[in-house]
Amino acid sequence: MKTKPLYLNDCYIHQFQADITEIGDDFIVLNETYFYSRGGGQPGDTGDIAGIVITDTKRDGDGKILHYFEGDCNLSSGQSVQCHIDWPRRYAHMRIHSASHIVEYFLFRHSDNQKFLSSFISGGKETSTYEVTAAITPEIVEKIQHDANAFIKGNHDILLYPDENNPDYRYCKIGDIVYPCGGTHPKNTSEIGEISIKVKGQAALGKQKIVTTLMP
Ligand SMILES: [Zn+2]
Repeated sequence: MKTKPLYLNDCYIHQFQADITEIGDDFIVLNETYFYSRGGGQPGDTGDIAGIVITDTKRDGDGKILHYFEGDCNLSSGQSVQCHIDWPRRYAHMRIHSASHIVEYFLFRHSDNQKFLSSFISGGKETSTYEVTAAITPEIVEKIQHDANAFIKGNHDILLYPDENNPDYRYCKIGDIVYPCGGTHPKNTSEIGEISIKVKGQAALGKQKIVTTLMP
């Protein structure tokens, strides 16, 4: 049975009640969930389901969302359970995810010699890898950091919505910046706070990484 993903309807709900529809060797499936399933560079959520520690959340090919646990599970299918998401971790993912789109927007504005390859988030840090034909210099990084922080301070609303023709395809709109995105985000850029940006790797080798970090 497919799991109804609820995290995109409301990114802030982190405690909820749901029904278990299946229990595997190391995973629990619910009828609906607010646990974010890994994707688009954003890690799967952790937390607990009726006290069973959840270490990761992934979606399978059939639209089922699997909440992974380690060890034993004394729960059974059909049971209604109380679920908790590790909120400080997830909220950091939301903030850094929005920040990463803003950073990319200003990267492409200040230099057009690179192609996005991949990204991943870990805690309050996001790393994006680009194929580059000209170096992302420290001067460019400085400009991106300045403009991204100025934009974040502008208190722009962040909207998440599905494509008109394909509801499975979603967008994230931050002020006037629009990205195809199925991740979770805060409601306003004011929640992101200040960020810092670093560039890693050598342009001569064809690839560079931009590392964005939330400031404490
Ligand atoms: Zn995104």
